[in-house]
Amino acid sequence: MKTYRIAAIPADGIGPEVIDAGNEVLAALAEQEGDIAFDVTTFDWGSDYYRKHGVMMPEDGLEQLKPFDAIYFGAVGAPDVPDHVTLWGLRLPICQGFDQYANVRPTKIIPGVQSPLRNVKVGDLDWVIVRENSEGEYSGHGGRAHKGMPEEVGTEVAIFTRAGVTRIMRYAFSLARQRPRKLLTVVTKSNAQRHGMVMWDEIAAEVSKEFPDVTWDKMLVDAMTVRMTLKPQSIDTVVATNLHADILSDLAGALAGSLGVAPTANIDPEGRYPSMFEPIHGSAFDITGQGIANPVATFWTAVQMLEHLGQPQAGERLMSAVERVCAAGIMTPDVGGTATTREVTDAVIEAIRGRN
Ligand code: ATP
Ligand code: MG
Repeated sequence: MKTYRIAAIPADGIGPEVIDAGNEVLAALAEQEGDIAFDVTTFDWGSDYYRKHGVMMPEDGLEQLKPFDAIYFGAVGAPDVPDHVTLWGLRLPICQGFDQYANVRPTKIIPGVQSPLRNVKVGDLDWVIVRENSEGEYSGHGGRAHKGMPEEVGTEVAIFTRAGVTRIMRYAFSLARQRPRKLLTVVTKSNAQRHGMVMWDEIAAEVSKEFPDVTWDKMLVDAMTVRMTLKPQSIDTVVATNLHADILSDLAGALAGSLGVAPTANIDPEGRYPSMFEPIHGSAFDITGQGIANPVATFWTAVQMLEHLGQPQAGERLMSAVERVCAAGIMTPDVGGTATTREVTDAVIEAIRGRN
């Protein structure tokens, strides 16, 4: 019996609703697999914690998380707490503190979920977007001078390091190699941005030599949005900067039908620290407490977690259960169904047990 220690951080809005659902599904999965178990510890960090303590998580938060095998994260953000407080107070310190430099976002059309693209069928759109998660445009460098004056200047500096680009490129090439099509698209904006982006292209060419079995091409980010929309079948694995992949993966989520089904993994590929698994969507206060949050993204990110923990077969069992439930039309209203979070969760548990 292998027991995995999971740190659950449900946090805000619909976060607790979808993480509760995810924990139930993981428990059912463990029961069915027989040889794995999940020992889940829940942390009450987030906006409520902030209202009581003035911080989103305790000062030794990272130390508390370190012994865990993985982090299962809900969503942060609340109407009465500024976005930069919630984001920089909890999610980003974990990503940065644990050097989770690879942000991995799979997208595919789940049977039963309608893509807004005409003529796109299940299987036509099956991508993984790898987002550089530690530097680039979100490195926080820059400043403002002459604030509020007519001559005010603001700068936002993107930082790309050879070490940072090389490691994400290696991660993306090896991920592409593991997938059947062995196809990678490297996205930049190296026509207009002549320095760091050109370095990206050069490093991609260098790293590609280590992966002769991977077919790769380069694409400018603007052209990539067109290709994703018009020729989704031509894409498999994608690697892009922090900003570009942020935008492309939102587009990917929308093209696959809903943010409610889009998962993401923040990975430390070297395994020095726990990696973090979460739905892409935010806290969605407009539907909080109504029992209709779509738990599929949270289930799918658990599949990523299982793969990362070395349990791909358990991951497959869960993914197949989710797909069967969606195909049967048991879905929440955001993807056109009438089911509640509870009903979808129960159906997935039944499917895991092989009863539907
Ligand atoms: P953030 O500010 O962190 O982005 P948000 O509250 O704006 O969070 P988003 O994730 O951006 O929420 O989602 C936008 C809208 O999409 C939500 O307000 C909600 O209506 C819908 N939505 C998002 N996630 C889900 C989900 N899991 N189930 C159902 N609807 C969802
Ligand atoms: Mg939002």
